[in-house]
Amino acid sequence: MSAPLNDLMMNYPLTLTHFFERSRRLFAKKTIATRVPGRPLFRYTYADFAERTMRLAGLLRELGIKKGDRVATLAWNSHRHLEVYWAAPLSGAVLHTLNFRLSAQDLTYIINHAEDSVIFADASVYPMLAAIRDKIPTVKQIVCMKDTVDAAVPDGLPEYEALLARAAPLDRWPQLDETDALGMCYTSGTTGHPKGVVYTHRGIFLHCMAQAAADTMALSENDVILHVVPMFHANAWCVPYGGVMTGATQIFAGPNIQPKDICEIVQAEKVSFVGAVPTVWIAIKELVEKDGFDISSIRCIPIGGSAAPRSLIEAFDKKFNATMMHAWGMTEMSPIGTLARLKSYMRDWAEDDQYAVRAKQGYAVAGVDLRIVNDEGVEQPWDGKSMGEIQVRGPWVLKSYYNNAAAADRFTGDGWFRTGDVAVIDPDGYIQITDRTKDLIKSGGEWISSIDVESMIMGHPKVLEAAVIAVPHPKWVERPLACVVPKPGVTVEAAEIVDFLRDKLARWALPDEVVFIDAVPKTSVGKFDKKVLRERFKNWQPKS
Ligand code: ADP
Repeated sequence: MSAPLNDLMMNYPLTLTHFFERSRRLFAKKTIATRVPGRPLFRYTYADFAERTMRLAGLLRELGIKKGDRVATLAWNSHRHLEVYWAAPLSGAVLHTLNFRLSAQDLTYIINHAEDSVIFADASVYPMLAAIRDKIPTVKQIVCMKDTVDAAVPDGLPEYEALLARAAPLDRWPQLDETDALGMCYTSGTTGHPKGVVYTHRGIFLHCMAQAAADTMALSENDVILHVVPMFHANAWCVPYGGVMTGATQIFAGPNIQPKDICEIVQAEKVSFVGAVPTVWIAIKELVEKDGFDISSIRCIPIGGSAAPRSLIEAFDKKFNATMMHAWGMTEMSPIGTLARLKSYMRDWAEDDQYAVRAKQGYAVAGVDLRIVNDEGVEQPWDGKSMGEIQVRGPWVLKSYYNNAAAADRFTGDGWFRTGDVAVIDPDGYIQITDRTKDLIKSGGEWISSIDVESMIMGHPKVLEAAVIAVPHPKWVERPLACVVPKPGVTVEAAEIVDFLRDKLARWALPDEVVFIDAVPKTSVGKFDKKVLRERFKNWQPKS
């Protein structure tokens, strides 16, 4: 009988502990910084970060935090937030990032549903917790972090720096299993209650490796990262974990960062990597055009969360020499699913065709399986025409929502997650999101992609933002209504918008009517909030 062949490699657990310890040794001299309004950046080293994170783990133990307990944050992006990001999961607890832009009702629901034990809250957002303090009985302790230099510590709360100064560092990390929970995020909950997603060490470990892959974002030690995506939005797209893994220089946005602050930091610090949702980049484009910042140090802007208009990607290339990389993902996917990188054989394609590819959401990163399935449950071909719901599976895709039996219908019988996004996939494997299922417009039996129409409208030189929604129509059932925000100080006629679209869209997809609004309402993570627009225009009387 021959000797056993299988399973002769170590079953080394894929946990954050490995990344942290490696980074502590290899990158001790590298810098982590936080923007402090009105002051120079606060800076310290990875060695400081590691030392403080170990003391924070000691503090968590003193606070009685045990394995599996939920350690929540309600905070802006900062080095302190990063310390909690690491100390909680490394000590076996579960990081729960709370979104301070949610309503008091949703916040209360989420804290209770997750059964948070302790909350690390920035002074400026603490009033949200004070208002619901008597409705969150599982919370034993709130620790206040001073997010501005002169912040007052409210309600006699213990203060982070004071507690940390006294805490004894944890001398040894506990042995973790790679399937242990690392953190949790709740989706913003466009319908019903927000749903909890629980990440494992293994999932985040593998997701970090994927972020560093050359054909993905190539996140590396060379990068200077500016963290603009809120750390409560899908773990800031996991970059604070990948950043420490690679030993990149990291700058945290601090409280209330504005487009001008972003441009100033990018220019001064030669930022190479900065992600954000399209609405942020639309504002930055305006500013850079007006004030002439040099943002050409940026080698990669992962842009996603909602569709990035092609005109935006093109403008950043041509005007600012900063490369946008369109990406698609969701909280449920840790979050990355696809990235729009050109393949080598596309490099000699006509410019127009290249931008058409880069405006799509891209192809699946290694580790993510992806298919599109129609309403009858039939998988659709990758022909660039057949539409279906995207279904995914992979090691950083959730298997089940946390404690939510009602959401079981989001998973198929054969083990895929139903994303609720509708897309076509071209023969090269690039997905193009048509809509979220609920945003699709069905006009006279034809589907109209609101994303397509609004992305095109945003290519009009007089338009700042545009969102397209379905309004009821007696003959066609639904018709698209374009809600358009002109650039400041500019007037534009509805007819100009429709004329601009005429050679780009099928006749039936042209919006019959355009309304001008002051701003497109935004969700708590800065995306267009079409729910609010639909509500505002629900009694719209079509003219034709
Ligand atoms: P929320 O549900 O609160 O918006 P997520 O950030 O998890 O939180 O949202 C994920 C959703 O965002 C996806 O299901 C998809 O509808 C949308 N999305 C993400 N990236 C893109 C993109 N590049 N283009 C179009 N839609 C996107």
